[in-house]
Amino acid sequence: MLLHSGSCAVCKTEGELIEISQFGKALCPSCFPAFIQRHVRSLMRRRQMHRKGDTVAVALSGGKDSAVLAHVLKEISWNMRIELVGLHIDMGLGAYSELSERVVRELCEKLRIKLEITRVSDFGVSIQPVGQFRQCNVCGAVRRALMNRTTRNLGLQVLATGHTLDDILQFMLKAVLSGHLDAPRPVLPPSEHRPRKIKPLYFTPEAATSVYADLLELPYTEEQCPLFDPAGRRFNEIFDLLEQKAPMGTIQYAHTMLRAMKRVGKDELKRICPMCGEPTNTELCPICRLRRQQLGED
Ligand SMILES: [Zn+2]
Ligand SMILES: [Zn+2]
Repeated sequence: MLLHSGSCAVCKTEGELIEISQFGKALCPSCFPAFIQRHVRSLMRRRQMHRKGDTVAVALSGGKDSAVLAHVLKEISWNMRIELVGLHIDMGLGAYSELSERVVRELCEKLRIKLEITRVSDFGVSIQPVGQFRQCNVCGAVRRALMNRTTRNLGLQVLATGHTLDDILQFMLKAVLSGHLDAPRPVLPPSEHRPRKIKPLYFTPEAATSVYADLLELPYTEEQCPLFDPAGRRFNEIFDLLEQKAPMGTIQYAHTMLRAMKRVGKDELKRICPMCGEPTNTELCPICRLRRQQLGED
């Protein structure tokens, strides 16, 4: 992000401007939030992410990106004819989880949206490494499984997650380097066992979510998850450099890659877990894997 003075691309007012290079525009602080809201709304329309009357479950982690997603969706909800429900998964990770839940509650009160909390502890397990899978991966798999399950149990059709352009770029490059042309898509159509999954911030860079969250004073925590694996973000600098050398280059890269990718994402959930009957793409679902390891169930 660059801060400089000049005249706003929208209202032409002279003063301090916010410039996010991926958007190729400099905007004043009062026009910036509405610009992001229009950007997200137009992607949701173009990609047919919602239908009128949908109630959208919004995955809330306590971090800034999901806070921005909830705020943007709330602001455009009347225009889009959608309702929102906040969804938070308590992963049982001590002080970090308590703090996350506190800021999520504060956010939902501020936005006046209903909040649903699912706790890993209710399943009698805790997040531990399983076989060759590290805790961070186990945590991610369990969180995704519980998000799908909670959305479905609430009878909702759409689950929105706060993945940003920065997340998507990492997935894309990692896929290419491991020989696949595969990455998360903006919309994953619903299947028998899974709601439609949407990523309204797919083309929104984190430089923009940071400014948005701070301008609107959204409650969020910058605390890093104790299981966070920095290897997951090892390509950040490459994309920072790309954006610096070729402004709007990262967004162009994501558009081109998305067009080139023909395959359906990995989140297909083709099997049924023999222990609990939940959909899964591994032999046992992530929660039953933990149950078998920690409770010796079979
Ligand atoms: Zn302006
Ligand atoms: Zn299971």
